[in-house]
Parts: sequence; C-alpha cells; structure tokens
Amino acid sequence: MGIIIKSQREIASIKEAGKILIELFDLLESHTKPGISTWELDKIAERFIRSKGAIPSAKGYGGFPGAICISVNDVLIHGIPSKKVILKEGDIVSYDCMATLKGYVADACRTFPVGEISPSAKKLIDTTRNAFFEGVKLVKPGIHLGDVSHAIEMCAKKEGYTLTSDYTGHGVGCKVHEDPYVPNVGKPGTGPVLQKGMVIAIEPMVNEGKVDLIVLDDEWTVKTKDGKLSAHYENTVAVTDNGYEILTLKEEEGN
Ligand code: MG
Repeated sequence: MGIIIKSQREIASIKEAGKILIELFDLLESHTKPGISTWELDKIAERFIRSKGAIPSAKGYGGFPGAICISVNDVLIHGIPSKKVILKEGDIVSYDCMATLKGYVADACRTFPVGEISPSAKKLIDTTRNAFFEGVKLVKPGIHLGDVSHAIEMCAKKEGYTLTSDYTGHGVGCKVHEDPYVPNVGKPGTGPVLQKGMVIAIEPMVNEGKVDLIVLDDEWTVKTKDGKLSAHYENTVAVTDNGYEILTLKEEEGN
C-alpha cells in the first residue's frame, strides 16, 4: 500500500481525534477501581467516544466485539471487554483506544494500576512508558525506523524485560492500520526512512517475563505464556519538519 504522507490539515484532524483519547484516559483512570468489570469500562469508553461525535474504531474491526481493548495483567493486547473480568486491587490494566473523527483515526494506549500495585508492577509500567519516549525522541525526517525500534528495545531490555516481534506499532490516521510496521525491536539504520507527514503509532508492549505468547480460543486475547505481567503504552505521532508531534498526549506530558 505504501506509506501515506499526511498534509498539515490531515494531521490537525488526527489531533482532533487524539484529543478525545486524552480525555478518555482521564475518564477511564477515574473508573479504574477494584470491583468494576472490563465490560462496564468498555461501555463508559464507547459512550464517551460517541458523545464527542466520533466512532470507537475497534468496534467490529475484524469482528472485535468491544469498543476498546482492555488487557489485564498477563494479557499483552486485544483483551475483550467482559462482565466476567472484574478488576481487583493490585492488577494492572491497559486501555488500547482508537477514535475515528470525521474519517481520521487516532490510536493510543495507557496502562494504569488498580489501587495499590507492587513495586515491580509499577516499574514495568514506568519502563514501558519510558521506552516510548526513548524511541520517539529520535523521530525526525531522515532517520530510519529501526533507530526508533532499537531505542525502545534497549530501554526495556536493560531492565531485563522482553518485547515481542509478533505485534508492532503501525502507520495510522486515514485508516486504523497503515504501512509501515513499527516494531519494538530492531537494528539502527534499518527499515523505512521517516519523512515529514508520516503518522505512526509507536507502542511498546513490554513483558516482565519471557517473550513467549499464547492466543486464547477467542482468537483475540494475547497473553504471556508464563503468566507474568505485560504493560503497553502508545501514542500517535506525526513526523514534522525537524522532529515530531505527539497527537494523543497532554501538552504537559511531553512534546
Ligand atoms: Mg496501535
């Protein structure tokens, strides 16, 4: 398909969709408490996204039943919202959310603690977020995507964590998934060269234990085989004249 280069106007539209996700994470965080089901959280997310005149892009995508993906503890990605999955004290929960507004898509993910969590779980969440920033800070026209992947990989690996090659970030904006793939492991100087106007979802998924994964019979839920925790952090990022702009992040958190 080739990498779609977006105009300034298109990037502004993706950022409008991104603003919905920024507010949505605050809303979801406020509801992230022991006793709530991931089904209820999904309904909260869907109502909010639709109240903003947007569409929850995940709903029905490839047959996905939820409005967002909600992945608890050892679930890496694509957790299906369920009345049977009830958050409890000490869990970690990832909300991977997409919103389509006037045809433009933003994609972002945050992992939150449920009540008090262990220091090791907190370190995993913090490192996953740091890995994103280690990668994104390299983004500018002329660098290779492998430079970004390598920085993400090194940040997580130096803490003893693992990252899968099976699931990656991706181009985004006009569609939910576009070229290129944005891996979380890679070699500097390899992969596509970034250009102004590219928009990519950079999304480290970091495992506390081994890299081996299993997909459940529901054909969506991806878990760590050893049952250890996995965290996820993602933003939609535009390549600018001499750097990048994060389209799904509060001003005070980055940029
Ligand atoms: Mg994504």
